[in-house]
Amino acid sequence: QSSRLLHPENTIIKTPHSVIGGDQFVMMAGPCSVESADHVMAMAKVAKQGGATVVRGGAFKPRTSPYSFQGLGEAGLQALRAAADANDLDMITEVMDDEHVPMVAKYTDIFQIGARNMQNFSLLKAVGRTQIPVALKRGMSATIDDVLNAAEYIAAGGNHQIMLLERGIRTFDHKYTRNTFDLGAVPVLQKLTHYPVIVDPSHAVGEWDLVTPMAMAGVASGASGMIVEIHDRPAEALSDGPQALKPKTYLKMAQQAFQLHDLM
Ligand code: PEP
Ligand code: MN
Repeated sequence: QSSRLLHPENTIIKTPHSVIGGDQFVMMAGPCSVESADHVMAMAKVAKQGGATVVRGGAFKPRTSPYSFQGLGEAGLQALRAAADANDLDMITEVMDDEHVPMVAKYTDIFQIGARNMQNFSLLKAVGRTQIPVALKRGMSATIDDVLNAAEYIAAGGNHQIMLLERGIRTFDHKYTRNTFDLGAVPVLQKLTHYPVIVDPSHAVGEWDLVTPMAMAGVASGASGMIVEIHDRPAEALSDGPQALKPKTYLKMAQQAFQLHDLM
């Protein structure tokens, strides 16, 4: 069902404020985690100023250490929903557990499946039984065929509103970058499937000063949109501070990204 051979036309996903996979480049921005209602409200406003139509924020966080901030849970979903609504934005948030799918579904416009859960098949089946768009992040050690099979798990349940996210993979040298941004995967996935492909330069490089150049490279790769992390006080961020763009840097990057996309 995911194959371009069987389904030659591009899948276009329509959410209340966005058309994903069409001619327009889609900007999704927000903090890594929903930290408080006020903070996410302020960040949603910045996201919107940069031309975003989707605000991101994690309420359930897949942290490497169990002692790191795990997210605000349902209160975080409520805060992100309020921030999205106040700014006429769509909301994307990660769902980590199949048991949480009905609860997250009450709030979100787009489910995010995190890299660490790309092959959590019970979770994929659970979102596949809904009709809410799903943003499937490539696992950090996932091949292209692994990504396609993961997408197939969602489609097999009857949900065809799938977008694929390239967020960097593990290779041999991560002294200077968090992951290796596999931009070749963008046109490859577009060749093999009809789903929109979105780039995540933030998790791909992991350092804020590398985000803008690689965000531009992501636009040039032909992606349908990007998801980027922003924070007004990165040093105090509860997660992923080092890769967060400050508002001013984000606004400049976003302007350049839309300009570059228009040239293509
Ligand atoms: C995130 O989007 O904050 C996140 C945890 O991403 P990934 O699953 O790609 O690591
Ligand atoms: Mn993050």
